[in-house]
Amino acid sequence: MSEVISIANQKGGVGKTTTAVNLSASLARKGKKVLLIDADPQSNASTNLGLKRNDYEFNIYHVLMGHKDLEDIVLETSIKNLDLAPSSISLVGIEREFYDKKNKKRELILKEKLAKIKDDYNYVIIDSPPALGPITINALSASDSVIVPIQCEFFALEGLAQLLNTIGLIKKSLNPKLKIKGFLPTMYSGQNNLSKQVLADLEYHFKDKLFKAKKEYIVVPRNVKIAESPSFGEPVVTYANSSKGSIAYRALATAILKSR
Ligand code: ATP
Ligand code: MG
Repeated sequence: MSEVISIANQKGGVGKTTTAVNLSASLARKGKKVLLIDADPQSNASTNLGLKRNDYEFNIYHVLMGHKDLEDIVLETSIKNLDLAPSSISLVGIEREFYDKKNKKRELILKEKLAKIKDDYNYVIIDSPPALGPITINALSASDSVIVPIQCEFFALEGLAQLLNTIGLIKKSLNPKLKIKGFLPTMYSGQNNLSKQVLADLEYHFKDKLFKAKKEYIVVPRNVKIAESPSFGEPVVTYANSSKGSIAYRALATAILKSR
């Protein structure tokens, strides 16, 4: 049985892609077969795994439009056990095209396409764009659970109510089994009171939904190796495996494996 996990937060730049790529790579390096679906027009997850635009013809846009199946677009990556369904900037226009089509099942197209291949994988991780539009709705509708990265900065929890509301609506209508897997504090800085405050706020509201390693909360530190790694086309867990950022993402993968 495979487990499908979306990484979502409509706030931009909170660490969704970094989390999607490094969780996927860590699970793959622990011997699990993983498919990472890049469902963001920015295509950062594809780039982070070293792909260039000319390396592939078809992408997740063609799948969401119903023109291709996932198996037609999936690529092997340089990391063993990790496959990627790449994205493209053409995905930007999909909102309008979806609504033009008057296709009632548009919110469930990713789920339908995924049903055909998900059992080839232990984990499917979906990176979503910074919006609560049709792509994120497709991702959440296709998922067993969602991980919400929270950037440890001022306004960290702003907009969270809206995200939780969307998750609640999707549970009611499109995907009753959807669960919140957990909140992941990102870009945490131990010297910064603001970071500590954000973690304390999360603990107050969502104590049971923070990931733990040996009774400590898992937080992703602000880490220069994480920031550097995309420019080398690698996740931090391969680029700098002993860095603090890598250690945090490996701990997250271990927590996910244990949560099964
Ligand atoms: P978007 O909403 O645009 O898709 P995102 O939520 O996917 O953004 P990322 O792309 O993962 O966010 O991260 C935003 C930027 O912050 C990137 O340049 C990334 O390399 C950097 N970054 C992410 N996590 C960390 C970290 N823990 N330490 C330092 N830099 C980080
Ligand atoms: Mg992103």
